[in-house]
Formats: sequence, structure tokens, C-alpha cells
Amino acid sequence: MSEFIPLASPDIRDTDIALVNEVLRSGMLIQSKYVAELENGFLKRSSTNFASAVSNGTATMHLVLRALDIKHGDEVIVPAFSYVATANVVELVGATPVFVDIDLDTFNIDVAQIEKVITSKTKAIIPVHEFGLACNIEAVMQIANKHNLFVIEDAACAFGAHQNNKPVGSFGIAGSFSLHPRKSITSGEGGIVTSNDENLIKKVNILKNHGVEIINQNMEFVEAGFNYRMTDFQAALAVGQLERFDDTLIKKSRLAEVYFNEIKNPKIKLPFVPNDRNHTWQTFHIMLDDSLNQKDVIQYFKDRGVGVNYGAQCIPYQQYYAKKYNHNSQEKYPNAFAAYKQGIALPLYEKLTETQIEYISKIVNEL
Ligand SMILES: *Cc1c(COP(=O)(O)O)cnc(C)c1O
Repeated sequence: MSEFIPLASPDIRDTDIALVNEVLRSGMLIQSKYVAELENGFLKRSSTNFASAVSNGTATMHLVLRALDIKHGDEVIVPAFSYVATANVVELVGATPVFVDIDLDTFNIDVAQIEKVITSKTKAIIPVHEFGLACNIEAVMQIANKHNLFVIEDAACAFGAHQNNKPVGSFGIAGSFSLHPRKSITSGEGGIVTSNDENLIKKVNILKNHGVEIINQNMEFVEAGFNYRMTDFQAALAVGQLERFDDTLIKKSRLAEVYFNEIKNPKIKLPFVPNDRNHTWQTFHIMLDDSLNQKDVIQYFKDRGVGVNYGAQCIPYQQYYAKKYNHNSQEKYPNAFAAYKQGIALPLYEKLTETQIEYISKIVNEL
């Protein structure tokens, strides 16, 4: 293989670029028709009544936490293994993230451990649908309903995922999607909040737009808001990808099948998909056994022209959290730590060929 295979590469087509150009020429650069079209597409796909496009998939959750008035003194349950943004947003509103370990089959929150950490201060759970696979969100909802907690689904990686045919982003009070280039659909930077709660979306829309509410056709500044809007040319980049998304999912699951068929190495654990769920393969995440060193493996792939990396962080182990909360995270969250230290994300995206996946699999088999 002559050309380097990066870990991720978005499928941007000439038709997408033409729409971006159309917006640039029109001069209507901020929230206009493509933002509305993108929001519509997302709410349909997520079976929710409302969607709000914002500047990224961290702003989504920050806005929802603010809109729910979660603040200093409150606790929010998050999985110990995710991208750090899941916990950072809790810190950003002054609340305390309370970590729960994951299960190593799905890399999602270990539902059996959630109730142990619920206190009188707990206000919400942010379960993550990690790597494009829904967590056991039905079970999370049962616990949340029993204890009267909000659920904000971090579906940053999991557009198109479902449990028992109900889409992620439609279970909790809100769903949060990212449109970063590493995710299934990209606008460059971008995020979408989905919800069935009209009041919540109204607050999100006010907070993302400087705190403006239109009252009797007047602009009233009713909150000290943010500017977390999405530009219209970003939305224009994404709407075509949204239209093609069913094909994207089919293509990606075919490529994932090639990995499943080709990788035969007892030192490697392949991903697992529970039968009540689909996998959207935002990331094909394998586990190395203890005889293999993650850093060496990443270098081994690099030397052979393939970009791989670790999949996500053990968040409480990261410097900020380790210092602030003084966790012994390796002992407290052994599965999150193992996934952080022994997990590898392999390339899987639409533009790859089956031959390239076979080539990568061959390298996995040499490990
Ligand atoms: C990517 C990601 C985010 C952050 O999304 P951005 O759009 O990059 O801000 C949050 N949570 C998870 C699980 C992610 O993978």
C-alpha cells in the first residue's frame, strides 16, 4: 500500500461543496435555510419533535445542562470512559461529575453500577453511546425515572444507532450529536440537540443566541446567553451527507464485516453488538491483550502506513480530574482504565475499500 490510510476521513463530495458555495454567494451566512433543513433531518431521524443546531457537540450538552439549571452543588453521573467533553460540560456549569465504570463488551456505562452512586444531590445522568453503539439506554431510563433524574444522551458518535428500533437521542430529555469530522456526518464543527420537550428547546435556542427572546416582535435579552450558533454554510456541508446516510451505514457495516471475517488473532478482542441494537461503526474499537503494548502497536501500524489511535479516555485518570478529585482511577474504574490503555481504534469510513480493510486486518493478525 503506497498511500497512508488515515484513521478517519470524511466523505465530502462536489455536490456538498456546491451547496456551501451557494450559501457563500448568497451572503446569508448565519442560521438560514440549511440550518433549518439540517435540524429537520435530524429530528425526523431521531423521532423527536424538536432539534436545534449549534456550534459543536460540547456546546450541545453545555446548553442543555444550563437550560435544566444544573449547577454548583449538583451531581451528574457520567461514564468513566468517553471523550473528556462528556465530563467537562458538567464542570463548565459548576456541578460535579460522578464517574461510573463501563462494561468491556460494549465500552458503555455499566448500568448495574449506576444506582450505587446516586445521592440526594444527583440531578442527571449523561450516558454515552460510545463508538456508535447505543448503550443500554432502556435500562438507564428505568433507573432515571425511578430516581427522578434527567437523562442527556451523549450520542456524539452514534447518529443512526437504536435500541429495539427506537433511535438514540429520543430516550432522554435531550440527545446530543456531534458533527465533527471524526463523526458519522460532518459540518466541520457542529452539534445538534434533539428533544421532545418544547420548553427545553426554547431555552436552548435562547441560550445559544445571546439570550435573545422575541417577545411581541421585540428582541428581549432575557438571559446572559452564549453565541453557540451554527453557520449556514456548515449546515449546507452536512445536508447531503444526511441524505446519503442510509447508504453510508450499509457501506460501513459491510466494511466492518470484512474486519470480523479477516481478523484472526487470539491476542485481539473484536467488538460486540448486543442483539437488541445496531452498530453504526463510528469507531471499530478492538482490545489488545496484556502481552501487547498500545504505543508499540500504534507505531507498528504507522510504520506500515496506517493511522490508528487509542479510542477514548479514562476521564478520571486525566490530569485535571485526577488532581481535583484525587481518584485512584485505575482501581476504581478498572474497565475504563483497561479500555484506555489497551483499546485501539481502527480506520472505518465510507471511502475505504475492502482491500484496504483486508490490508489493515493482515497487520492486526501479525501483532
Ligand atoms: C466527539 C465527542 C464529543 C464532543 O463533540 P465536539 O463536536 O467535538 O465538541 C462529546 N462526546 C463524545 C462521546 C464524543 O465522541
